[in-house]
Amino acid sequence: MQTDSSTAKPPVEHFEAIIVGGGMVGTAFCALLAQAGMKVALVEARPAPISLDKATGPLPAPRVSALTPVSQRLLAHVGAWPAMQATRVTPYRGMQVWDAEGSGEIAFSAYEAGVAVLGHIVENTVTLAALNRQVLDHPNVTTFFGASPQALQRANSHAVNGNRATSGDWLILDDGRQLHASLIVAADGAHSVLREMADIEVASDDMQQHAVVTTVQCAKPHGGTARQAFIDGRPLAFLPLTVEGNEHYCSIVWSTTPEHADELSALSRDALGEALGEAFGHRLGDVTACDKAHRFPLVQRHARHYVQPHFALVGDAAHSIHPLAGQGVNLGLMDAAVLAEEVVHAWQRGAPWGELSTLRRYERRRRFDNSAMLGLMKGFKVLFGSHDPALTMMRNLGMSGMNQLVPLKRVLMRQATGERGRLPLTCR
Ligand SMILES: Cc1cc2nc3c(=O)[nH]c(=O)nc-3n(C[C@H](O)[C@H](O)[C@H](O)COP(=O)(O)OP(=O)(O)OC[C@H]3O[C@@H](n4cnc5c(N)ncnc54)[C@H](O)[C@@H]3O)c2cc1C
Repeated sequence: MQTDSSTAKPPVEHFEAIIVGGGMVGTAFCALLAQAGMKVALVEARPAPISLDKATGPLPAPRVSALTPVSQRLLAHVGAWPAMQATRVTPYRGMQVWDAEGSGEIAFSAYEAGVAVLGHIVENTVTLAALNRQVLDHPNVTTFFGASPQALQRANSHAVNGNRATSGDWLILDDGRQLHASLIVAADGAHSVLREMADIEVASDDMQQHAVVTTVQCAKPHGGTARQAFIDGRPLAFLPLTVEGNEHYCSIVWSTTPEHADELSALSRDALGEALGEAFGHRLGDVTACDKAHRFPLVQRHARHYVQPHFALVGDAAHSIHPLAGQGVNLGLMDAAVLAEEVVHAWQRGAPWGELSTLRRYERRRRFDNSAMLGLMKGFKVLFGSHDPALTMMRNLGMSGMNQLVPLKRVLMRQATGERGRLPLTCR
């Protein structure tokens, strides 16, 4: 009997896990599973992966992340860190935060915290390219670039040859290919299509701010210190970037009102540099903008559930957070590490790795940390946005007072550098 090739469906491709979203979090998760021996599919909408030789230009890319030492250990575990370090990463050993409305100021140092570095500022393209290198030629990984999910079919609604299948779900791609796995993971970012297909609700909190991002050159060297000023509740960060030994570059993130973001975006580069230098009290001298202002509306989101049978959310698909403490991708990488730990553990002992009992352990281990961080960012925004004279005085006294308390600062530093709770083995 002949089949009509124009209507024949492609054969179902079976995997042990399917990951949708090849951003930093999805790709790290893919590397963890593949390196443990699992057969994984990675589906990414962008047409092609980014390679390390194209990850950097003479000027740093506008999107950077402050990566904690805990995230660094995870990236080292999957083998990405050496290539990142050889490409371009900037360690920071100092951190200064001050209230531009008063005299409150607090400074942290790696020396006081008893650690080698407080973190690294890394262009997202560098992290992603190094992670891509770990998965692209891996024999356990099949990549589907330029592909998006068209439908998610659950075990109880999908019939194969007339029989109901019981283990796993199907992902139908926009080109008609059908993938099947016991576990499907949404790592497709804050506007996750897969989360919507799974009908998982999200609590959204519009922070009424936009992040304005650009790269600048400053008259004074950054000296390996990350700096942030709270200006009328609008945090302005100068994150250090070292380009071929030149310590005069910084990545700017100014979380400000949408109206002010409009104004900043309309400025010429000269005027933008001047506005940034002035707002920053010229701590690093005169500022020259090397790029235009890019902007991102800031909405905190938290999915009501992270898991369903055979399904999990990680990274920004599960939660998105205000960037003022530089925690977003660090939280996402911890999701990836914890989910991988639970799933690989179940898979290695022959237990059903996509079942709710396994996935719930991941949700229990991650939800509290993510919720606490989201709540803290909201609290900071309220505290630093207040014009109440009593609150302003308290916050300034609080910051300066805390600055004298080295043991308390050490505790804060451990939190900020990601040393919280029971860390997965891959991050210890
Ligand atoms: C201004 C700013 C500054 C920040 N600074 C920091 C910082 O200093 N430190 C920090 O930790 N975090 C920071 N963050 C947060 C950080 O950028 C995010 O948390 C992180 O990028 C989330 O990674 P992800 O892989 O979960 O999602 P994304 O980076 O959003 O990746 C999602 C991936 O899924 C793909 N995708 C989307 N839809 C589909 C689809 N339908 N089908 C297939 N693929 C799809 C996308 O192409 C993308 O590759 C910052 C955020 C902003 C806005």
